[in-house]
Amino acid sequence: MSRDGHDSGKCRGCGAPILWVRTAKDDRPVPLDPVAFRGVVLTRKEASELKGSPDLRRGYNRDGFVVAIRVIGQGGLFDAAIPDEDLETVWETHFATCPRRKAFRRVQARRRELAARRRPS
Ligand SMILES: [Zn+2]
Repeated sequence: MSRDGHDSGKCRGCGAPILWVRTAKDDRPVPLDPVAFRGVVLTRKEASELKGSPDLRRGYNRDGFVVAIRVIGQGGLFDAAIPDEDLETVWETHFATCPRRKAFRRVQARRRELAARRRPS
């Protein structure tokens, strides 16, 4: 892990530069696009109201938590005085943008299948 919590690297699928973060939930490595979005943290309800808007970004923060934000600089938020603690920087998962994502999905589905089989019922 680098100092800011991310390892850099390249996607094995498409060769795009990626960052890595470990999820806070289950310490799983997730590849991220190296594009940081900064914006106002949204509640679940606010995020669902913004669904479909380009202002809505959902990604991982540097601590590996999934956070939905409304990006600054669009939607009239640019000049607003927003306290720093209401802002968050997120990186979107590369699974969402990778041109080879279908291959990843197959791998993930296979992993889930195997994990389910191992789990005692
Ligand atoms: Zn990729």
